[in-house]
This record gives sequence, structure tokens and C-alpha cells, in this order.
Amino acid sequence: MENKKELRNWLDAFNLNHPLVIAGPCSAETEDQVLKIAHQLKNSDATVFRAGIWKPRTRPGNFEGVGALGLKWLQRAKAETGLKITTEVANPHHVELALKHDVDILWIGARTTVSPFIVQDIADALKGTDKPVLIKNPVNPDLSLWLGAVERFYKADVANLGVIHRGFSTYEKTRYRNNPEWQIAIDLQNRFPDLPLILDPSHIAGRRDIIFDLSQTALDLNYDGLMIETHYDPDNAWSDAAQQITPDALIKYTEDLRIRKESGDDAAFNNKINTLRTKIDVIDHQLIEILGKRMKVADDIGSLKKAHNVAVLQSKRWNEILGKMILEGEEKNLSEEFILRMFKAIHQESINHQEEIINH
Ligand code: PEP
Ligand code: MN
Repeated sequence: MENKKELRNWLDAFNLNHPLVIAGPCSAETEDQVLKIAHQLKNSDATVFRAGIWKPRTRPGNFEGVGALGLKWLQRAKAETGLKITTEVANPHHVELALKHDVDILWIGARTTVSPFIVQDIADALKGTDKPVLIKNPVNPDLSLWLGAVERFYKADVANLGVIHRGFSTYEKTRYRNNPEWQIAIDLQNRFPDLPLILDPSHIAGRRDIIFDLSQTALDLNYDGLMIETHYDPDNAWSDAAQQITPDALIKYTEDLRIRKESGDDAAFNNKINTLRTKIDVIDHQLIEILGKRMKVADDIGSLKKAHNVAVLQSKRWNEILGKMILEGEEKNLSEEFILRMFKAIHQESINHQEEIINH
């Protein structure tokens, strides 16, 4: 990964690289652990060291962070390595302590962004400062909550903002710990084009084997940075063990990641085309996911029909579906002919599935 893109707004003012790489453990565990990882990251593209001090855990009884004590460790890591430091703040008291310990960048966690009261309290505590604040998306796929948090900080004159896309939780298990729902981040980017957008592939993936690909997709979509959980002994990390990578892996990843160049007419054109193509790839992937889900429901209907000895094909219901879809398609500028062809194909696949179920 090479730094080719124009530096942007406060990233530039704070002398941070672009794309910005933030790395470090999910949680600060011990002083030695913090210092060891920070020193290993000195040879990487990371310019900001992350570590959670106060850990919001979904269920009680897990490691909840070392607390304010860890801020001293972060300060020491900064003094020894020159890396900037960042941690999550979840209330005004955290803010006060973090400012006192010269934490360079604060981030707002996904479980905080869902709560306008807390977001407001934190924004008020930072009123008028030039401290950079990165706002993670809320845990639920709701663009307004995310936008609302950004607006609350802007209104409190906290101008050096960025956002972190860390994925959205779903009840159903998918291949991700948190579904990326790229479209939501793209919509946010369209609304605030100058706001640095950073991907946190670690919390999207929940596992280390897909972190590289997620990071590449983000760079292809012109994200401004990556926040990647990094630990010298990932498997024995006190939190989020499955998703952390070693500093060596991070160095290798950033060497292999391709970054878009953004200069010259042809380059600008290629850049735009590639971004659009990546958007199409993301949507195609979603189409397959959705079709797979639809087919599962069709399978359940097949099993039910089998149990009740009902025929597979029910034309009345099918014609109703088609009529509705043609109308909806019109609203999206999709021709009747296309809707008919597409749904015939989908329907045929459902029938094949159901026949398979009924005959076996
Ligand atoms: C974290 O970054 O370790 C963290 C707790 O993130 P999130 O708020 O995205 O769950
Ligand atoms: Mn984590």
C-alpha cells in the first residue's frame, strides 16, 4: 500500500498518512503487552495505535478493560514509538481522562452511537475542541442514527470528525460477525463527502481470514483508512481473539493492498470506473445472498407442502406475486419484460427445489 492520494482535511493537519492506518489490540491488557505491540507496529504503515481501555461487552462477566490505568501505558507507547494514540470513550468522564492523558484521537463505539443522549453528553464534553473524533456506525443498520451522531458533534463545534464503518449486527448468523452493508457507508459518504471514512474490517469479520479482502474492498471504494486489531499473540488475546492479526501480518497486508492513484485524467477516470465496479460487485454479492435466502424459504414451504400433501405449483398465488412485482419494478425503472423473465427464472428454481424435497 502506497501513499499516493492527496491528503485530506484534518488528517493532513495532524500529519497522518493517507490512507490512515490505525492498529493495535482490541484491549490494553498489560503494560508490557501495550508496549510490545506498539514497538512491533513501529515498522508498519500504522501511524496511530489503538487499544480499548473501557470495553463495552454485550454480556457481563467478560473482561471489561483495565480502565484509566491503561491510559498511562498508552502515553508511554506514544512517547517510546512516536505513534499517535486512540481509545474509545463512552461517557464524559472517559473524555476528561483521555484528554488529560493526551490521547490524540477519540473514538465513539458502536454501542454508544445508538444512544443520542450519550452521544450528546460526549459531544458537550468536547465542545469546541479540535480533538479528532471517529464515530463508529451504530450496531443496528440505521443510517439516521449514524448521521445524527455526526451532526451532534458538528453542532458542538467538534470539527475534526471521521467515521468508522464496523458493520451491523444481525440476528441470523452470516459469514460476518457484523454484516458490512456497504451501501449504508456509501450513503453516508455521499452525504458528507469530506468526512474521512475508515473501515474496521476486524469487527465486520470476527475472524482473521477475511480481513485482507475486506480491506481491499474498502480501498477500492476510496475509503480513507483502516482500523485493524493487532496483537502479538492473537489467539490468547483477552478480547476478540479470533479476529486479531499479528503486527507482521499487518505489515504484509499493507504491502499487498492495492491503493488507487488519483491524479491525471485517465487515472481519475479509471479510479471512478473502478469505484463504481466495486459498488456493483458489492450489490451482486448481496443479490446472491438474498436469492439464497429466498430459496431457503421456498424449501421450507416445500417441506410444509409435503407434510400436508399439497401440490407444488399454485398458479393463483404465483400470478398475484408477479402482478405486484411488475408494479414495484415500474417504480424502479425496470421493464415488465425484465421482471417477468427474472421472476420466471427464480420461480423455476423454487419449483425445482420443492420438487426435489417432495420427491425425496
Ligand atoms: C472495539 O473497537 O474494540 C470495539 C469495541 O468496537 P465496536 O464499538 O465497533 O464494537
Ligand atoms: Mn474489539
